[in-house]
Amino acid sequence: MSRFAYVNGLYLRHPEAVVHVEDRGYQFADGVYEVCEIRGGRLIDEALHMARLERSLKELRIAQPMSLGALGVVLREVVRRNRVHDGLVYLQITRGVAPRNHAFPAEGTPPSIVVTAKSSPRSAGDLRAEKGVSVITVPENRWDRVDIKTTSLLPNVLAKQAAKEAGAYEAWFVDADGKVTEGSSTNAWIVTMDGGIVTRPAESGILRGITRTVLFEVAKAAGLRIEERAFSLDEAKAAREAFISAATAIVTPVVEIDGHPVGNGAPGTVATELRRRFHEFAAEAPARSRGG
Ligand code: PLP
Repeated sequence: MSRFAYVNGLYLRHPEAVVHVEDRGYQFADGVYEVCEIRGGRLIDEALHMARLERSLKELRIAQPMSLGALGVVLREVVRRNRVHDGLVYLQITRGVAPRNHAFPAEGTPPSIVVTAKSSPRSAGDLRAEKGVSVITVPENRWDRVDIKTTSLLPNVLAKQAAKEAGAYEAWFVDADGKVTEGSSTNAWIVTMDGGIVTRPAESGILRGITRTVLFEVAKAAGLRIEERAFSLDEAKAAREAFISAATAIVTPVVEIDGHPVGNGAPGTVATELRRRFHEFAAEAPARSRGG
């Protein structure tokens, strides 16, 4: 099946879907993005993703290229044209095309928009969650605006590659105080020996993941308590459970950190339950997911 992408107003076949060599996304990573899960052909937590997109654009002073409603139409059309039932939709907005110069281009330069979508069978993620994944750790070396979902992801790319080369699924960044910040493309969580679910506050050092945000609601509905505080690598290694969250991973148990088994080395019950409930929650909340 041929794939389609949306590029600046046009739905193009993949081989023809290209951007200009002087796009600021290409030259400076001067752009923002969102990745949204698609389940049963439906965008999950669209309203929350759109709100974060708006914030990222505002923080970087990139003009909003179209209304969120219009953007939603484009996202759905790309999903439809690619016949994605379960998978991901990717949206990127850059500061547009202009002669290379670090300073912003002339006022009125239109931002560039690219949207792609791909199928990914649910079974692959489910299998990964059933087995659990390994993480390695790397020193935190990112800028202090990781709250912005920008396409400037070089440290994250290098961290993920280091994980891959070590046979692990994810790399957790650890800051100068020995505290885990987050993964290269996921938020990090632990479950303490007394059952506390712990994740770092989103005020600094992490991206406020949409999955993370929704997990607060899921946990509340399940009568589970989440503590928002920084946790150290040592605490993580001694935890009963650990897991990661993202639109691409939902909740995926971590069974090994830097070669040390977490808990009994198998996926934990809290992570497994949160994963199960996340999907129930998404299925039960079509209005919320549509932004209604
Ligand atoms: N942290 C980082 C650095 C990420 O790149 C991502 C997702 O791409 C997340 C956390 C999780 O965010 P979300 O739950 O919105 O996918």
